[in-house]
Amino acid sequence: MKTTILGHPRIGEKRELKKAIESYWKENIDETTLLKVASDIKKKNWLNQKEIGIDIIPSNDFSLYDQVLDMSLTLNCIPKRFRELKNKVSFVDLYFAMARGFQKDSFDIVAMEMTKWFDTNYHYLVPEFEKEQKFELNSCKIISEYQEALKEGIKTKPVLVGPLTYLLVGKEKENGFHRLELLDRLLPTYIQLIEELQNEGATNIQFDEPYLSLDLTLKEQEAYFKTYTLLKAKFPKITFILANYFGNLNDNLNLTLSLPVDVLHVDLVRGLDELDSILVHQNKNQILSLGIVDGRNIWKNNFDTSIEIINKAKAIKGDNLWISSSCSLLHSPYNLDNENGGSIPEEVTQWLAFAKQKLQEIVLLKKIAKNNLQASDIKEIEANKLAFINKNNSTLIHNNQVKNRINALTEADSLRNNIFVERQKTQKSALKLPLFPTTTIGSFPQTKEVRSLRLKYKKHQLSEEKYNSFLEKEITSAIRFQENIGLDVLVHGEFERNDMVEYFGERLNGFAFSSFGWVQSYGTRCVKPPILFGDVSRENPMTVKWTEFAQSLSKKYVKGMLTGPVTILQWSFVRDDQPRAATCNQIALAIRDEVANLEKAGIKIIQIDEPAIREGLPLRKDNWATYLKWAVNAFKISASVVKDETQIHTHMCYSEFNDIIANIADMDADVITIETSRSEMELLDVFVDFKYPNEIGPGVYDIHSPRVPNINEIEHLLIKATKLLPPENIWVNPDCGLKTRDWPETISALENLVASAKLMRERV
Ligand code: GLN
Ligand code: ZN
Repeated sequence: MKTTILGHPRIGEKRELKKAIESYWKENIDETTLLKVASDIKKKNWLNQKEIGIDIIPSNDFSLYDQVLDMSLTLNCIPKRFRELKNKVSFVDLYFAMARGFQKDSFDIVAMEMTKWFDTNYHYLVPEFEKEQKFELNSCKIISEYQEALKEGIKTKPVLVGPLTYLLVGKEKENGFHRLELLDRLLPTYIQLIEELQNEGATNIQFDEPYLSLDLTLKEQEAYFKTYTLLKAKFPKITFILANYFGNLNDNLNLTLSLPVDVLHVDLVRGLDELDSILVHQNKNQILSLGIVDGRNIWKNNFDTSIEIINKAKAIKGDNLWISSSCSLLHSPYNLDNENGGSIPEEVTQWLAFAKQKLQEIVLLKKIAKNNLQASDIKEIEANKLAFINKNNSTLIHNNQVKNRINALTEADSLRNNIFVERQKTQKSALKLPLFPTTTIGSFPQTKEVRSLRLKYKKHQLSEEKYNSFLEKEITSAIRFQENIGLDVLVHGEFERNDMVEYFGERLNGFAFSSFGWVQSYGTRCVKPPILFGDVSRENPMTVKWTEFAQSLSKKYVKGMLTGPVTILQWSFVRDDQPRAATCNQIALAIRDEVANLEKAGIKIIQIDEPAIREGLPLRKDNWATYLKWAVNAFKISASVVKDETQIHTHMCYSEFNDIIANIADMDADVITIETSRSEMELLDVFVDFKYPNEIGPGVYDIHSPRVPNINEIEHLLIKATKLLPPENIWVNPDCGLKTRDWPETISALENLVASAKLMRERV
């Protein structure tokens, strides 16, 4: 029996790598210094695992930006537009250019596309393929990392993105072929790579194939069989570790069990339902790697439950077992010890495990299974038991009032009083907005001053009084500005908010906040998700004060601004002791109370942002309906408390609506604002085809760039929209909030936006 993990966090315990890379970009440090920081982190990670007692330690789980991009460079799969750079800049700079684009000297090359890695919040760089794509072994990163670890006395298990996952997560950049057809061209390079690793002395190689968690076509299934049969036949002495994670194997189970690999890793956090079947059907000599410690969450492993599972597997597999993390610990924060003295309540801390603690859990689980315990281990096991007993009864988690309210929910709580067409009439006569009403999505530029004063206030270096008067000043000038340029529906600007989820989490019971719980989102960008540990409740209004203040300054309507329950859920570490749907409903009730308070305070228009609805979709389509049902319903619970004349908006950026348009319609928001400017309104088509009845604000201003759209451009987009939608259903707004922009471009862009709406009114 052996212990292993699929990968280690790599950004550095205190985000050292992030800081070094960003200094390198700013040319404050040179390449040698950057690579030294990287190599120190790798060394630390390896020695940390060794010290804790992990038997099989991965390498090539480190990356300066992204492991899929690393693979593209290893395979020399470099998009044409970057090839010219190859001889002009260093390898590292070429790598960063592919990740971030290159705008220097006479070059202006756009970056590779980035998208979410399965259903995580980690983003990878999408491999780009041409019809005549060639692959050849290019970078020696994998080999040199292996050697680097060897110098530390550690014989690692190199981790490769498996050939099929690599191809399948990529994109064809030309017509006339499917990327799977490139397999025969790709495999020789993988073979060469494995050969070199073998020559260096590597015996274990991990092939990450999370694509097995998705629905596969027959051709894809056949490709899996062909690939691993071929590779294994070439390298009989290499231990092939095939790692699936993020889901169960489902329809791919038989296929996977038929692959001639030596170790099969399965994700038991997401795929426990299949363990029995695997144990029955797995080849007797194949090792089973049990992904039992959750790599994507921050809760302690329940040893009682895990040991039961391990013992069951042991009864059949004997010592042919590995104990592992469900997926790479890349998705976990580094080390809970750093939170000592931080803001997580002590009671909550004892329920948590970050990456370092997860390593310890894995080692301890093996010891328990082997009945090889020392006194200190027994103490740990006792502590684990106690933590779970305490968790079951903790009043920090369990709130009967909340549970009773959830039980009392009825269908009527998710329904507005009347259907949309009725409400629309009522709202039109109550609100009396012009045709093509103009508005923004909520936030205004978060200037250096706004950020620094908010931080000072948080650190108690600025009195509440001074901070409040600063916010009053900012809101007042934002309202005056919006009135001056003639926007129709105003916002207060969100200056008091650091982040759209954190702000609400900090004001709700059931959430805790770590100090160093950073997780890589993409490249050097890290996020620190709130820890949602208990029943969610709201004691006091969270947004009423500032919204009411803003409204008091103007005769125009000020839109209340809230984050929706699904987005709060999706962007937090969520408790695992009840279904996500149940947690989501609790958040929905808290938001519902806020909506009711805003209405009572005289706010006529309330926006509930739900940008994360789409990304919550399960990996397999079979599971979509269940998710969409509870997610949409949670939104409706939060929104349906108001009178007909109160207008509910929702906002969803970077979403595609194909496949889910019926569910979006079912949300029944009076107005939905979406991001459409970069797609030239293409995203509207699905609304049109579906005959989506409610009002829509298709974004006409790309807020991701400082570029100011001119009046004609915006008008052109609006004319397009009027060809698709009835004019009385169209709103005019930017794609998303403006917090990342500066004031000068914001002012000009919004002036143009208002001017184009005026032109549109003259047209009809
Ligand atoms: N109201 C938020 C803002 O304007 C919405 C942000 C988002 O959709 N990501 O900043
Ligand atoms: Zn948005």
